Amino acid sequence: MSEHIWFDPTLCLIGGEWAASGNGETLPLTNPSDGSEICRIARGRAPDVDRAVLAAQAALDGDWGRMTALERGRLLTRLGELVLEQVETLAVLETMDVGKPLTQARADALALARYCEFYGGAADKVMGETIPYLDGYTVYTLREPHGVTGHIVPWNYPMQIIGRSVGAALAMGNAAVLKPAEEACLTALAFAHLAQEAGFPPGALNVVPGLGAEAGAALSGHPGVQHVSFTGSVATGALVQQAAGRNVVPVTLELGGKSPQLVFDDADLDAALPFLVNAGIQNAGQTCSASSRILVQRGVYDAVKARMSQAYGELTVGPAAEDLRLGPLISARQKDIVEGFLEQGSDLEVAAQGTIVASAPPEGAYVKPTLFADVPANHVLARDEIFGPVQVLIPFDSEEEAVRIANSTDYGLVASVWTRDGARQMRLAKRLKSGQVFLNNYGAGGGVELPFGGVGKSGHGREKGFEALYGFSQLKTVAAFHG
Ligand code: NAD
Repeated sequence: MSEHIWFDPTLCLIGGEWAASGNGETLPLTNPSDGSEICRIARGRAPDVDRAVLAAQAALDGDWGRMTALERGRLLTRLGELVLEQVETLAVLETMDVGKPLTQARADALALARYCEFYGGAADKVMGETIPYLDGYTVYTLREPHGVTGHIVPWNYPMQIIGRSVGAALAMGNAAVLKPAEEACLTALAFAHLAQEAGFPPGALNVVPGLGAEAGAALSGHPGVQHVSFTGSVATGALVQQAAGRNVVPVTLELGGKSPQLVFDDADLDAALPFLVNAGIQNAGQTCSASSRILVQRGVYDAVKARMSQAYGELTVGPAAEDLRLGPLISARQKDIVEGFLEQGSDLEVAAQGTIVASAPPEGAYVKPTLFADVPANHVLARDEIFGPVQVLIPFDSEEEAVRIANSTDYGLVASVWTRDGARQMRLAKRLKSGQVFLNNYGAGGGVELPFGGVGKSGHGREKGFEALYGFSQLKTVAAFHG
């Protein structure tokens, strides 16, 4: 195989062919570390989405649809190997495109490989069941693909989100149409090239870059799409659900969060500290599962504030290629949004901030990570998703109060509890309104294997883990009467 992935970023992949969008229009792709233009990407529109959906359907009616689960699994496993061979190239592309520090970008590429491995291995292990029924009947269930699946992906973790959603959909035998984010497209295109090299038949995976209101809207409302997987903001998720609803097709929504970590007086603070900080500043806080609220019991509040403040004082922000703890935000627009929130916190105590290094170009989208202290639970900074490196410290007295505050936002994606009290761990795991609860850790290392998704405005449906394979398939019941 070639040492590097070479591709023309201005093209779409439709039915196994790389071609310009129908009207030949392109969009600029910006490097958030210095504001420069990296390249241009295709501006796909409704007619391109149309062609991609038709190509996906043709794949289902042809070679791809006839493949066994074992064959699909082998293709995904092969794709995972190719991703592993290209980890460095993928990481550099993501670093330029998203502004991720190299270490994080590498971790994302490895996670993409892991998703391919996991779903490659799982493809032929999804089984139906037999159901005891009336005398003279044999009843069983079959798990079948939805058909054409649409995948609308944001810019913050392109590789991980493509891995978990497209990987699971392909494992189950769907044919996918992927609409990457207009701000970050390169690893989606590179992944599609690797999928071709792995041997996926034409049309099994199609990629149409473009704007959300154009290609994205066309895909979510397309009558030929039988399932839509969307990851992004609440407002856009609601639009996607409405559009898919007109075709009466299922939707998985992975939306935002305001995820809390609850630190009790008996917590192991040495163990907790790295998770308390890192879960807030990883990817410059642009993580749906970012832990932006740190709820601390009064007995350890001053200690946690002092230790987190010290850690914040040591955080450095700079160009992604310098591989510091934080890179830039994705865009000048995102920087404006985060700075707007920081202004709304002008009535609050700033406990500590990190430093933007001198080598950071002024055209880059840099903000200082900021820790606010003694924040009232109903303050806008404690309620709204900021999507930047901002955390708030909220003191509490009792377990009851901690649960009430933790459950008081519109979101429910991830929560964690730091306590040595086993009974409290069990109580809170049940009482916290959240798709995932972590006990004495946060995020469990990413967890390709762990079902993930939200409650409330964090969305519905589950991706990741084996559970995703159920979401990307539908159940058929077969009842045979034989007397
Ligand atoms: P966004 O909703 O603006 O964009 C996400 C994707 O939707 C992009 O591909 C975009 O082009 C597309 N899109 C935009 N308008 C559309 C429309 N009308 N119809 C169809 N598609 C459209 O979100 P964003 O600003 O890119 O991402 C930030 C948000 O995403 C945050 O709120 C964050 O919490 C959330 N997010 C959630 C998860 C998760 O797994 N829960 C992961 C990443 C990001």
